[in-house]
Amino acid sequence: MNEKSIGSPLHYIDGGFTPSISGDTFELVNPATEEVTTNAARGSAADIDLAVESAKKVFESGDWSKAKPSFRRKVLFKAADLIEARSAEIIERQTIEMGAPIGPEFKGPHPIMERSAWNLRFFAEEQEQAGDHAFNRDDSLLTYTMTDAAGVFGLITPWNGPIMLSTWKMAPCLAYGNSAVHKPSELSSYSIGILAEIFEEAGMPAGVYNTVLGYGKEAGIPLVEHDDVTGVSFTGSPGTARDIATRSATSLKRTSFELGGKSANIVFADANLKRAIPAAAAGIFMNAGQVCVAGSRILVQREIYDEFLKAFEKAAAAWKPADPMIRKTRLGPVVSKGQYDRVMGYLDVAREEGRLLFGGKRPDDKDKGFFIEPTAIVDVDKGARVCQEEIFGPVATIIPFVDTEEALAIANDSSYGLAGYIWTSSQTTAHYVSHRLQTGMIWINSGFDRDLRQPFGGMKNSGLGREGGGLSREFFTETRFASFPLSPRRDDE
Ligand code: NAD
Repeated sequence: MNEKSIGSPLHYIDGGFTPSISGDTFELVNPATEEVTTNAARGSAADIDLAVESAKKVFESGDWSKAKPSFRRKVLFKAADLIEARSAEIIERQTIEMGAPIGPEFKGPHPIMERSAWNLRFFAEEQEQAGDHAFNRDDSLLTYTMTDAAGVFGLITPWNGPIMLSTWKMAPCLAYGNSAVHKPSELSSYSIGILAEIFEEAGMPAGVYNTVLGYGKEAGIPLVEHDDVTGVSFTGSPGTARDIATRSATSLKRTSFELGGKSANIVFADANLKRAIPAAAAGIFMNAGQVCVAGSRILVQREIYDEFLKAFEKAAAAWKPADPMIRKTRLGPVVSKGQYDRVMGYLDVAREEGRLLFGGKRPDDKDKGFFIEPTAIVDVDKGARVCQEEIFGPVATIIPFVDTEEALAIANDSSYGLAGYIWTSSQTTAHYVSHRLQTGMIWINSGFDRDLRQPFGGMKNSGLGREGGGLSREFFTETRFASFPLSPRRDDE
């Protein structure tokens, strides 16, 4: 049990790194080179049982669940410092496992690692400051609430933001005193071990945080179905969420779902195009379009449509697919062969449903790696598959609209409802559209900036529940009340 996570990634159970009980492993493939990086432990029900047992044991001991909030704050603050200190190493591993460009050299930590550290610091403070409530009715009945850690949670995460999205869940889960069994995506099993090392070094008791690597069907399902798991917080696709919801129903587990999107980026004629166009390109080409809140449907007001298309194509040229380990690269490969084939499949559909304005293929200078050129689809009906389904690649569909009502009708004609972006110089238009857009999150003349107190999440097929601030506290705690009379009752007299 005390091998390091470097080399072949292992599970982290009860404070130590360990291979699978079965001894099985699976290959991790670098999407930029298509070469096998290493083999990772392949978890199954037996490994999940061990991890849940250790999480339950420490939960019941109270070493973390009943510890002073200030102790938990100190540990999580130290872990946040360590994430920042190991930023370059984490970013490099993420690039190797899922292809996101390593990015320019930063003076301090990489912004994504700063944000990951902020997730921990934010909830470390939130749990200490939130407090409980007391109500005193007519001077006769005093009631007060108690908010306690709820138990062992299953945290199931995707590959497209391995550490950031994982810390976004584990920060509230752990801060409020719970124990966790984390099942990261099989496609991002290389970087995650660093978090276990960090929590250990920060002084988190053994068993509070556990990781079981492996596939959804082999390790995810047993975690969801485990009787000693109180709840499941899941980020991923709607199909997997439905399966988790069905399996959780029999044991009445609480669930929280952050799912996919097909978000509209609405550009009005009065927008500042110098800002809107590069932002629209970044909104769909960043992370090769593998972002849940990607602005994958770009809606452009008719009078600026032609001008927009020309400028957008120019902006897209700055997103040239290249080796993600090179610092100036902005567009890396998509994560896997499966994802590459899926996106290419959609591009075939796009050729039938509309027209490719540019892109649509593997770059000519690449014969290896899952690279796809930045692509734009035009002349397509708003009901077409490429306008309705989440492609999760560097592929934008661009649709013209005449007026605000048509923009809203197109934007809301979606089974998803995660994010919306509005570019306009009119406050009235911005607020009118914000109130009518059927999405959980709306950014006006901006993108991706977050206040962690706000509810993160989506409507319709984009999610169930919200994460952030007090909403995460509600999900990850058990809230109860105690009530007692302040004045004598008739029976007492
Ligand atoms: P996915 O649903 O295939 O997998 C997500 C995780 O679930 C992985 O760890 C996987 O192993 C596990 N899993 C798969 N089947 C399971 C099952 N039956 N039971 C339990 N666990 C199972 O999603 P993905 O391809 O990894 O991620 C991409 C999706 O995630 C996209 O739809 C994207 O929009 C969404 N996403 C949403 C957000 C958000 O915050 N809303 C953030 C990032 C990604």
